[in-house]
Amino acid sequence: MAKKQQSKPQTNKITLNARDIGNSLLDDFCPRCFWITKKFPLKDKHPFSLPFSGLPNIVDSYIKRVVRYYVQKLNFLPSWLLNQLKDYYLELDFENVRLFKQSSFQVTLFDGACVLSGQADEILEFPDGSLFIIDYKASSLTENQLKIRPLYEAQLNAYAYLANKKLGKPVVGLALVYFDPEYKDLNDEVMLHRTKEKFLFGFNPTVVPVKLMDPEWVEELCQTLFEILSLDTPPEGRANCEGCNLLQDWLNKISSYIGLI
Ligand code: SF4
Repeated sequence: MAKKQQSKPQTNKITLNARDIGNSLLDDFCPRCFWITKKFPLKDKHPFSLPFSGLPNIVDSYIKRVVRYYVQKLNFLPSWLLNQLKDYYLELDFENVRLFKQSSFQVTLFDGACVLSGQADEILEFPDGSLFIIDYKASSLTENQLKIRPLYEAQLNAYAYLANKKLGKPVVGLALVYFDPEYKDLNDEVMLHRTKEKFLFGFNPTVVPVKLMDPEWVEELCQTLFEILSLDTPPEGRANCEGCNLLQDWLNKISSYIGLI
């Protein structure tokens, strides 16, 4: 039976990131895991960390550079993005957009006890001042990606919430754009063409529209996580999860060696 936990008044603000707020929507969400990982985050470099190639970050920044070049220098979105957006959002004029310069926002919630922040990948602005927000994902549309889709949907809605609160401009649409690496079933001719003079690698962009939710929906997600992080001790974990027992066993095993290490 789960013990009832009391939350204490906080002296420090609790910070939430747009990327986190959909956690409670995931099937395997565990408030205990969330509390522990947020209170004691593992930094990039820790004794067990493996070298990280940084490739997804490079792909992300390359995509942003390409889109920026098209819109700023040529005054239109690249066709692989424009045509898909036009197919999904018939009423929006994607041929007349500019890039909105500010993409990073933060607002305080719950009488100043919580800060929600986020940085959108791309914000397009229409001539009437309304906004359209895009997040790029350098990934295939795998089953695992579908499982974590609620996380991304909440992330984009958090950006819409932040942009609307800070700028007072309406957000009229949201989309994920997946960049699926093209390496399976690649036509021989295409592969040879791409690698004849140089080694070039391709990605297949796919737009996935995301439903725009009410601001109250975003606030409720934040409220759930805010309450968890306001607890002084970790809440109960998921029932029947073996992970906590395994972790406890491991800690018990190494504890006798701690002084000797
Ligand atoms: S119950 Fe499972 S998911 Fe939750 S903290 Fe323990 S190991 Fe993590």
